[in-house]
Amino acid sequence: MAMVEALVAAYAVLVAALVGSFINMAADRVPRRESLVHPRSHCRSCGRVLNLVDLIPVAGYLVRRGRCAACGVQIGASSPLIEGLCALAMLMAISLLGLARGAAVGFAAVALIGASWVGTSVARAPIRRGGSRLG
Ligand SMILES: [Zn+2]
Repeated sequence: MAMVEALVAAYAVLVAALVGSFINMAADRVPRRESLVHPRSHCRSCGRVLNLVDLIPVAGYLVRRGRCAACGVQIGASSPLIEGLCALAMLMAISLLGLARGAAVGFAAVALIGASWVGTSVARAPIRRGGSRLG
């Protein structure tokens, strides 16, 4: 039973990191009023569509050494930080509260991280009126 619980806990931590990856994408796109669905995740500099390696939370960033594999432009360090923070929040919640309650609290914490990070990125974005960028 302990083995099964450990696997479920690891799965919850992985899902939290993947949600962290989605949070980064939302924080990038929401202030630009872009779709969260289309187009697929891509490099803002060269347009290369990200592949499976690029999309692995934290590890993808490390494998690429923080740069786009095609054009070499730097990827912001906030991406692995948010992914890691979400995974850590889940891990700590499960460690402290057990699997069921910990996972619930962990996902609430991840949702809070997401709302805060996307909200911050919207607040920092230039003010737009009528689709044109001001300032
Ligand atoms: Zn690129």
